[in-house]
Amino acid sequence: ELYEEANLGTQILSSIRRAYFEEPTAIQRYAIPCLRQQDDIMACAQTGSGKTAAFLLPIISNLLSYNADELGENQKPPAPLCLIVSPTRELALQTERSAADGHGMLTVSDRLREGCHILSSTIDRLKDMVENNRISLKKVKYFVLDEVDRMLDTGFEPDIRKLEDLGLPPKDDRCTSMFSATFPTEVQQLAKHFLRDDYVFLA
Ligand code: AMP
Repeated sequence: ELYEEANLGTQILSSIRRAYFEEPTAIQRYAIPCLRQQDDIMACAQTGSGKTAAFLLPIISNLLSYNADELGENQKPPAPLCLIVSPTRELALQTERSAADGHGMLTVSDRLREGCHILSSTIDRLKDMVENNRISLKKVKYFVLDEVDRMLDTGFEPDIRKLEDLGLPPKDDRCTSMFSATFPTEVQQLAKHFLRDDYVFLA
């Protein structure tokens, strides 16, 4: 019922039922309504808190109301509407599998020539794909930085900060969410860089 209150749509609700999620976790309760209404968020969330569904469910719900034209199908190079950047390949693949799980959304593992609605990647692979013109970031409307604190540990911060040089639209033209288990100064600085001034802080 709490999921129903978030107005997620029947397709998403049936996926939730299939996954046997009986009620939203704390992070889902707060993040889902924010992302449904396109707020930028900085969320404190550990692995296991249900954070992946907290961003995928509202973003996919929002995307399901787009038509094929708006979804940019058959574009060359493919231009995803949602970009998720993760610190490790394992996490990126796991997130992609969750995104691909039955919503009719195309991910990068689907045949690229059919398009790509949601791209989940590490920063180095993303950079490589953009530089080789295999993907374009110009249509990204939803941008997620997952496990930001771990991402900073990997030394990729300079590359992350340069995403706008790779074609990511400016912050006023997208909805951005950041997830992190801890909030050192570096994470706060990155929030300032990527999030609109009126972002919602969820702790
Ligand atoms: P995550 O924090 O995204 O790594 O998710 C951890 C695990 O919790 C995943 O295996 C999800 O399938 C599961 N999960 C996510 N949301 C819920 C929920 N509302 N109820 C039960 N399990 C959930």
